[in-house]
Amino acid sequence: MAAPTVDLAGQLLAGGRVVTPDGVQEGAWVALAGERIVSVSASRPALDAPVVDLEGAWVLPGYVDMHMHGGGGHSVADSLQDMRGAVAFHRRHGTTSTLVTLMTASVEELSEQLSWAAALTRQGATSQGSVLGSHLEGPFLSARRCGAQNAAHMIAPSLQVLQTLLEAASRSLRMITLAPELPGALELIAPLRAAGVIVALGHSDASYEQAKAAIAAGANHATHLFNAMPPLHHRRPGLVGAALESDLPCELINDGRHVHPAVIRVVFDTLSCPLLVTDAIDATGVGDGRFELGGQLVEVRDGEARLLSTGSLAGSTLTMDAALRRAVQESGLSIERASAAASGNPARVLGLDHELGVIAPGRRADLVTLDDQLRVERVMVGGNWS
Ligand SMILES: [Zn+2]
Repeated sequence: MAAPTVDLAGQLLAGGRVVTPDGVQEGAWVALAGERIVSVSASRPALDAPVVDLEGAWVLPGYVDMHMHGGGGHSVADSLQDMRGAVAFHRRHGTTSTLVTLMTASVEELSEQLSWAAALTRQGATSQGSVLGSHLEGPFLSARRCGAQNAAHMIAPSLQVLQTLLEAASRSLRMITLAPELPGALELIAPLRAAGVIVALGHSDASYEQAKAAIAAGANHATHLFNAMPPLHHRRPGLVGAALESDLPCELINDGRHVHPAVIRVVFDTLSCPLLVTDAIDATGVGDGRFELGGQLVEVRDGEARLLSTGSLAGSTLTMDAALRRAVQESGLSIERASAAASGNPARVLGLDHELGVIAPGRRADLVTLDDQLRVERVMVGGNWS
């Protein structure tokens, strides 16, 4: 087959252990032209381009994090600059695409934050990573399952408020987490789905029946499964049981604190679309100390963030590279399955698998290379190494 012979913007990545949808290709060649992947092959393709030696390194699609509140000292709730700073922090840990996640706040504050996320979404992929849109984790949540979120701003589901938030987001809202048992919650699901928004169940006290009713109405995602919801009980399966039975895409905070490694393994064996997320807060990567989170004080000790007032786990200080590493090293999953949960599955859930999340011809060259201990070595966004 004829191939371009000269492409000044091309690159040939040689010798990596490339994780593709068809399995790991050892010592493969990945050809890039500009920001796109052209081919993945066992032998050198006929492309005249500089060769980048990746001998022995794992080459994975860049991570896609659907649940990120901050990192590197930046909270996405503070300013447009901080939102950008948090995305850049996580890019250094291999996350090349992100849903900026906004925790419960006043409608006014949320509207402003949504407008920042909309501005970054319009920018598309930059060397700092790409913002795919926003995830509203609130304000229609159960105060009984608020976790580290500020219950003072949790409100009853309202079409009018939803309309205000959708307008502020100017089509960049991709997901909303709501508690389906709240009065009026089910009526929001159809309009949200019609607007192309993923309806995630979470921060909820829902019974199995209530959760199933929401799924029947169109809810299609579960936010950090097991956390901020009643545990799976054999006589009261609750939201966890409904989500697992319905094979919803389910987020897992795989930091070794929110979910046990054995449960991670069981969920991966149960679901067709498990998702690794960070739920990272601004304190991620900053070390121990006291921080403010959504108007409440959080103490981070040995990387564990807890609300000072209630002792609740307050998001995580997780990064996607560590989430993937734990899935392989602590839960014994193959790197292909862990990579799918960190990249391919979230891309599919977002309807973007034709564009990113896998290493295959035509996709954007968003890549992360790892050493044999699965530590990040290099990150590429749209063909640019950073
Ligand atoms: Zn969260």
